[in-house]
Amino acid sequence: MVDPQNPYLLAGHLQCAAFELPLREEDLALFGPQSGALARILEESKKLRELDGAYYWSSTDFAAAEVNLRSISDATYAIMDIANDNKVIGTVDSIAAPEAVYPGGVYLHEADTYVVRKLDLEARAAYVERMEVDYYTQAVLDSQIRAGKVAAAKEVAHGRAHFGDAVVSWRTAAFKKIKFYTQENIGYSRLDLPPQCLETTSCWFLPSPEALALPATFGLKAVEGLVGIRNVAVNMLPLVAMCDRLDVGGLVESSNFGTPTMFLYDRYPRGLGFAEKGYELFDTLLQHCLTTISSCPCEDGCPSCVGLAVTLPAQHDDLDLSRGYPIPDKDAALVLLHFLLDREPFIPTPGQRGPARRSRYRKAAPEVESPREVSVADQVGRRVRKGRRPWVGL
Ligand SMILES: [Zn+2]
Repeated sequence: MVDPQNPYLLAGHLQCAAFELPLREEDLALFGPQSGALARILEESKKLRELDGAYYWSSTDFAAAEVNLRSISDATYAIMDIANDNKVIGTVDSIAAPEAVYPGGVYLHEADTYVVRKLDLEARAAYVERMEVDYYTQAVLDSQIRAGKVAAAKEVAHGRAHFGDAVVSWRTAAFKKIKFYTQENIGYSRLDLPPQCLETTSCWFLPSPEALALPATFGLKAVEGLVGIRNVAVNMLPLVAMCDRLDVGGLVESSNFGTPTMFLYDRYPRGLGFAEKGYELFDTLLQHCLTTISSCPCEDGCPSCVGLAVTLPAQHDDLDLSRGYPIPDKDAALVLLHFLLDREPFIPTPGQRGPARRSRYRKAAPEVESPREVSVADQVGRRVRKGRRPWVGL
């Protein structure tokens, strides 16, 4: 699904077209109403040159080399089998790499398990070795976002939405070994890897203090509601921006503005216009979120609505992950959304609240203490004593 009028993508198409044949006015018309203005921008940046009413490709480079069809990121990591003359058995884009290949982690390839022996960040290479193991590994990511220069801002949905620059940074802080089938935690290892940074564009939303105070009147946490909305919004943004789910990411955190803020960003260096579309159609985006959550038949929240749809069920029960993986409170999300969209107030049914209420997702993983260097129980205890992390994202 691609928006042919997305100016960032259209600029790439125009360059490739001009590489093939000079673009005349009638040719530009085929690319839509924005193509003339974009051709002039490309001329200013010396990519195209106008001569006798036609735009010519003015570089010696291959135009299509700048347009990546397969991946959201231009830079990819090669995954190489050290027992097989470093044969490349897979690639992963650099944005997904910290979560996919890290020293000691298990990489699954054609149903075979490989252990990552070495990660060369400069050469963008992960060296793996085939090993029969009965576990997979789950990365514990540490991610943050810093809002930058604001390009646009508006009052919307009882809050304020912004569009502008942002820097997202993340690193794999540790990983867990989880046994196949039983989902037992059998190990936890810390990692000391440098953070990866993505300079991109983001749409961020600060609900009004009035909106944030509302869930507490029902004994609910506003930030949990906002995390639920974020989880749905990253799935709904592709509908309004016409992109893939993996083209966008989201975070809920409070450190930028001292109040819970929902960020939606492009998972592409310098952005590709998806978060910008989310900003323009923010109200519509929230309405899609409300429809999705309201129409879900579950009682307490599930991976189809406020939870993240992940392939590893243990992630829904992992307090160390916290970045929206544990299923947030559905009622908190509904209380907030009804208020933000001026709907009839949503009154939750009184009853047991908190994690026990959503126990059916938590029963999936048995509580087993780790026999390894740092036990999971220690980690969870530390987290509980420390309180909730200020950021939540993916
Ligand atoms: Zn649900």
